[in-house]
Amino acid sequence: MKLLLATHNRHKIKEIKDALKHSNLKILSLDDFPDMPEVIEDGETLEQNSFKKAKEIFEHSGITTLADDTGLEVDYLNGEPGVYSARWAGEGCTFADNNRKMLKKLEGVPYDKRIAKFKCVITLYAKNVLKISVGELKGHIIEESKGTDGFGYDPIFVPEGYNITLAEMSIEDKNKISHRGLAVKKMAEIIMEMKKAD
Ligand code: IMP
Repeated sequence: MKLLLATHNRHKIKEIKDALKHSNLKILSLDDFPDMPEVIEDGETLEQNSFKKAKEIFEHSGITTLADDTGLEVDYLNGEPGVYSARWAGEGCTFADNNRKMLKKLEGVPYDKRIAKFKCVITLYAKNVLKISVGELKGHIIEESKGTDGFGYDPIFVPEGYNITLAEMSIEDKNKISHRGLAVKKMAEIIMEMKKAD
């Protein structure tokens, strides 16, 4: 069975491939389809964007599609940036720009109020198939960037029960606890059940 990941993000592709390495699925990504139209992520929730990406890419490709939409929700900022995590610091911003904005907004805020969580919503879409899985990772936003692995907000996020950031972890260790790792694991179980029922 082929599975198309509705993303060009090389970090996500690597993480999802690693999480599904024992699944026997032939995993493709949008990099294999350079002519695929861009999906505009204009939903108001992670669920809406994840669904829209999976549906539109399936409709163009005809291949079972898996889409992930992820956001970082910070308690002190009333859940911001959430669904706006990607372009939080402005159109065309970098991961570093977003992280600088976050550190500035939380300047002087004590550790116990710097609570945050990643939420990842994964949609699997094909003809007569619609499955959704969700994974969350709780932690804290620290006061300066640490680590060079990972992507996005990883260098400023320390998961609960750890004293290193996600950017200081190997991809295998991040996958074991991360929002995306957990959501992919749940989806892999759903896919296996579907294969059995075939
Ligand atoms: P997307 O819309 O699902 O691509 O994710 C929105 C933004 O959330 C990305 O541009 C990253 O800044 C951030 N993000 C998504 N997943 C992760 C992660 O696993 N670690 C850190 N940041 C992430």
